[in-house]
Amino acid sequence: MQNKGSLYAGICPSHYEEITMHKPAIRAKVPERLYIPLSQHIGAPAVSCVEPGYQVKKGTLIGKINGIISANVHASADGTVEKIEKRRTGNGMISDTVVIKTDPAQAETEPVLQPVENITREQIIRKITDAGIVGMGGATFPTQVKLAPPPGKTIDTLIINAAECEPYLTCDYRLMIEHTAEIISGIVLLKKCLGVNRVIIGIEADKPEAAKLLDEQGKIHNIEVFIFSVKYPQGAEKQLIFMSTGRQVPSGGLPMDIGCVVSNVATIYAAYRAVYFNESLTERYITFSGRALKNPRNMIVKTGTLLGDLINENDFSDKPEKIISGGPMMGFSLENLDVPVTKGTSGFLFFSAQDYKKKKEYNCISCGACAFVCPAGLLPSELLRLTENMKYLKAMENNLLDCMECGSCSFVCPAGKQIVQSIKTAKQMARNKLEFNVYCHL
Ligand code: SF4
Ligand code: SF4
Repeated sequence: MQNKGSLYAGICPSHYEEITMHKPAIRAKVPERLYIPLSQHIGAPAVSCVEPGYQVKKGTLIGKINGIISANVHASADGTVEKIEKRRTGNGMISDTVVIKTDPAQAETEPVLQPVENITREQIIRKITDAGIVGMGGATFPTQVKLAPPPGKTIDTLIINAAECEPYLTCDYRLMIEHTAEIISGIVLLKKCLGVNRVIIGIEADKPEAAKLLDEQGKIHNIEVFIFSVKYPQGAEKQLIFMSTGRQVPSGGLPMDIGCVVSNVATIYAAYRAVYFNESLTERYITFSGRALKNPRNMIVKTGTLLGDLINENDFSDKPEKIISGGPMMGFSLENLDVPVTKGTSGFLFFSAQDYKKKKEYNCISCGACAFVCPAGLLPSELLRLTENMKYLKAMENNLLDCMECGSCSFVCPAGKQIVQSIKTAKQMARNKLEFNVYCHL
């Protein structure tokens, strides 16, 4: 294990991880109905391959991968397809969603261990593709794409993201504690698949128990464990690569451009289950936390379970003033509990009025605090000014798209500016404008 200091920029918000990190995860019940979106990943939505009336088992393919950047989607329990409807997911997107009425009695089948000693790279990628594995740290990028870099891209380092730097979230921590050996086996598989010699696990110093376990069990495979001081957003892909290797992903580039692949621990665990047991990605660890909750905890939840089937009024100690899907920095506000768990859902946070105070907004005082903390080296106040003046293409010239939407700038702004919200809008507008310009020149 090596201590590697901390990110040069970023912020140190209160973390509140101790609320849930020492409690073993509880398995959630199978709900009466599952609402499984066909778009739970970046890229093209899966194409439905079921119809109302179809009987499905846990692991039945219900949405077929649709292109290079896409992923399969599977039923997460036994039941009958009722309908396919449009429904909003936790990140605000509308997706075609397969509604399954679950069977009251679920078949209990023991997973069968598959032979993996002589498994080839192609077979690993096939199994991961079939299982619908995507980045579970929030990015939801289809994993098979990362494992098959295009000709000309040579990967020499696999970086495992165990940082879990967003406050409150401890689902990855519990997974690392409860399934260390499986995560190490998953890392060995991906190492073989990518043909790399170097593997680095990046973890923050507030998770010493998990770091120790990973180090003890990873040593035999030459896996290095790097400990970083606690700072947000240490777990952001580009920042983790820089902290681990000193390499910088070029503006507009990808980790594979500089020989790196980054994968989150939950993704590694899902890949392990896919290869060792032919299991599809149909459940995940999720953190439920926040002051408004009576019993904050981690749960293992089937994809498609509605938040309302996991939490009800009796679970609240205080009126939740704000509900967030994901972490408090990069998560999405929810209006109700009517959203399904997806492959990318890391947590649900319930804030009482005590935690959540809406900031009053004033004029920018040019203090420079936002630029000081920006881990992407941007000038957030300038991007804000351009956005407010609707100069979206000019904002693009100022590296707008390099913004990872970490929210550090908004967090420190003494004028209460919602900088990251403006940047998100600007990105969308700039993309629309570019598409419009291309269309006009056709
Ligand atoms: S400009 Fe983007 S990357 Fe920089 S601090 Fe703000 S949200 Fe984070
Ligand atoms: S932190 Fe806020 S007030 Fe300070 S320069 Fe940035 S936008 Fe302006």
